[in-house]
Amino acid sequence: MTKLSADNLKRLDHLKGLLNLSAKELKLLKTATQIKKATINLKGKKYQAFRVVYNRALGPGKGGIRFHPEVNEEEVTSLSFWMTIKNSLAGIPYGGGKGGIRINPKNLSEKEKETLSREYIRKFYKFLGQDKDIPAPDVYTNSQVMSWMLDEFEKKTQRHEPGMITGKPVELGGLLMRQDATAKGAYIVIKEVIKKNFKSKKPSFIIQGFGNAGSYLAQMLNKDDYKILAVSDSKGGIYNAKGLKVDDLVNLKNEGKSVVDYKDGKKISGEEILELDTDILALAALGDQVTKKNADKLKAKYILELANGPVSEEADKILFAKNTMIVPDILANAGGVIVSYFEWAQNRAGNVLDNNYLQELLESKMKTNWQRVYKQYLDENKKIDLRTAAYMIAVKKILSAEKLRGNL
Ligand code: NAD
Repeated sequence: MTKLSADNLKRLDHLKGLLNLSAKELKLLKTATQIKKATINLKGKKYQAFRVVYNRALGPGKGGIRFHPEVNEEEVTSLSFWMTIKNSLAGIPYGGGKGGIRINPKNLSEKEKETLSREYIRKFYKFLGQDKDIPAPDVYTNSQVMSWMLDEFEKKTQRHEPGMITGKPVELGGLLMRQDATAKGAYIVIKEVIKKNFKSKKPSFIIQGFGNAGSYLAQMLNKDDYKILAVSDSKGGIYNAKGLKVDDLVNLKNEGKSVVDYKDGKKISGEEILELDTDILALAALGDQVTKKNADKLKAKYILELANGPVSEEADKILFAKNTMIVPDILANAGGVIVSYFEWAQNRAGNVLDNNYLQELLESKMKTNWQRVYKQYLDENKKIDLRTAAYMIAVKKILSAEKLRGNL
């Protein structure tokens, strides 16, 4: 039985007609290649852990590990499916993977996080490796978590293999540019959208989520004088029609506070922020934030998805009907995994790649991906949304690789 979410199954069914998929092709697309589960003991309590490789047609598994109280098998499987689609669309040599532990990391000390990270690797190391499945950071995991995981993996396997995980600190073979790569990729794409659609005015932004992805995006927008009207984090939101001072917000977060502690604005709820008037709404928190319950209330004409799966399938339809353009996650947030690919390639080659060259490569890859998706959308006479256009391109490539391998 497939563990993919109902939304993703519906999205695949929608592609059936568009791409003329056979029953065998559809079944392959709906099935995860490998689902591994384990129980991790910490402080006398048991926590569920997962690692899923969704597909290997284009290369080894690749995708982050999250520590979050809502992690479950269906979510991890869906996230690994999106990684498969994202990697295919991005033109990088990976299948898709994802992992997670169902735990609230906010209640853990650093030492406990280390124990948890090492225990995760002890459970799954046989299934990981630079040619098998390569994890990276995701929600509430960071370069320190990657360091512990690399160390534990190398202890278990008795050899150095920095390419088994990405998002590492520079000292352990990481790339400095990984830190803001997701935001940078999204910024490159949204600038292309702005060029096409905002000829005479600079659009305003609202950002949901002020962690790695959201806060770097805010800083990039701020540097280029875009007005950010509101931002939120897990505690709530803050709004000022004249624009927020991004540096002050970043300082608050660095002090361990919330954006709601910002003084020069009105406090708003996490739900309200999505419904405020703005040109572009950037979603950089978690999945399923825009659903059939609130989609109709959204005023932004453009949505930029930095989070994975922030808009549900039903909400997609509502927003498409009211002409809201969604720049989908699998296109907009691919900067992170593209730079992870640079890191992996550098680790494997054992030589250093020039930072300016890599920045240019990221820019050109993001622009090319945007152009390919937009062309597909035009080729379909704008009768499909950008997400469907992106899926069409990605799925065609995966199926073609499966055929060449003799699996179809
Ligand atoms: P993060 O842990 O650094 O930040 C998450 C942020 O979301 C925090 O500010 C948190 O307070 C906020 N948040 C949580 N619940 C919220 C809510 N209900 N309303 C508003 N804010 C809320 O994580 P991140 O790395 O920035 O990732 C954010 C999203 O982007 C995730 O969906 C992740 O999968 C996706 N993503 C991240 C990367 C990356 O490289 N960081 C790459 C691809 C996709």
